[in-house]
Amino acid sequence: MSSLSNARPQRVAVLGSTGSIGVSTLDVMARHPDRFEVVGLSGWRRIDELAAQCCQWRPRYAVVPSDAAAVQLRALLGPAVSEVQVLVGERALCELAADPDVDSVMAAIVGAAGLAPCLAAARAGKRLLLANKEALVVGGGLFVRAVQEGGATMLPIDSEHSAIFQCLPADRTRWPDFIDHIVLTASGGPFRTRDPASFAQITPQQAVAHPNWVMGRKISVDSATMMNKALEVIEARWLFDLEPARIEVVIHPQSIIHSMVVCRDASVLAQMGTPDMRVPIAYGLSFPERIESGASRLDFSQLAGLSFEPLDATRFPGLRLAYEVLSGAEGDSVVLNAANEVAVDSFLEGRIGFPQIHAVNVATLGALAGAGQPPASLDDLLDLDARSRVVARGQVSRLS
Ligand code: NAD
Ligand code: MG
Repeated sequence: MSSLSNARPQRVAVLGSTGSIGVSTLDVMARHPDRFEVVGLSGWRRIDELAAQCCQWRPRYAVVPSDAAAVQLRALLGPAVSEVQVLVGERALCELAADPDVDSVMAAIVGAAGLAPCLAAARAGKRLLLANKEALVVGGGLFVRAVQEGGATMLPIDSEHSAIFQCLPADRTRWPDFIDHIVLTASGGPFRTRDPASFAQITPQQAVAHPNWVMGRKISVDSATMMNKALEVIEARWLFDLEPARIEVVIHPQSIIHSMVVCRDASVLAQMGTPDMRVPIAYGLSFPERIESGASRLDFSQLAGLSFEPLDATRFPGLRLAYEVLSGAEGDSVVLNAANEVAVDSFLEGRIGFPQIHAVNVATLGALAGAGQPPASLDDLLDLDARSRVVARGQVSRLS
């Protein structure tokens, strides 16, 4: 277990610093300049934003996707910020994640693209702040074993999993006896009450307009289809070592209760707060302490009420896929995640309609579920991921 000294700042690498979680992470750290030091940042698209972050934080390393992006970043930084070493590509992300001068890695890359750096951080025994849920969905048991064998500490950043983690005893060996089951809350997204007959007309703009949270585009679409909750069920299975039957989902439109633990004695522990990712991020950064996050406090006099409703499986067919892959072959989660990444991209590009996201996921699983050997290495996982993307793209072409 990595320990953090109070005497020196915690040295943090933020992978995906230009995204929604990355920006919120830097916002929390900026509130505690004595407590945190940024060793490395990475961004794949908004290089101007990455340059602004480098000017503010003066990290030792900045990682970009290509030589062209490196030239662009160097030009934006100019001679005044010469101390930042600009590195290129996935291997550089992995090296940064495992760098001896890094204590904590914020994994805020979106998609399976974040798996290799997450594994590198896990094997190097880092404190791993996991926002990148797809990495755990794809990595599964291999990822969990890498964390254990590397002596890393994995702290959930996803708000639901942070909520569960905050309700559980610090001593993990007590979890099996403590937990009866867990309840993940889901807001229901932007289409909770929309007539499903009109789902074919949903535009990307409508799908990314989440009622309670401001997030990246991919997770916003996942929230609209409920695939986000499907990925979170799989994530919870690995984070808390729970069989799927002990992971329940309930719709809670206000997003005030972030999730709940139902204990052995039927007592229910819930974690609450305003919907602001800086709360779970601050908890991950400061665990086991608590620090100011910048989030506003809940005002109970203004809360109109907290409501709950069962999830409508006809409206949101994606959720059941999580339970299907968890009861299927090892590797089926890889297929589902890859299909969904392709389908969401295709929807955002206007190639397929909203209901077809689910159709692509089902067809890809139908073609590949249970196929081949259980993945035993990162290469096996990436190979299955690549094969699944080919099949999913074929499905997209068929539908578009
Ligand atoms: P985002 O799209 O806003 O940011 C993604 C970041 O990853 C950006 O910095 C981008 O440049 C980088 N990136 C994109 N593709 C990459 C690639 N191929 N290789 C390396 N870097 C790449 O996404 P986000 O909303 O910040 O979400 C990040 C992760 O956190 C996702 O896995 C998401 O599910 C999870 N998460 C997000 C929220 C939220 O509120 N945004 C909440 C819970 C969990
Ligand atoms: Mg979540």
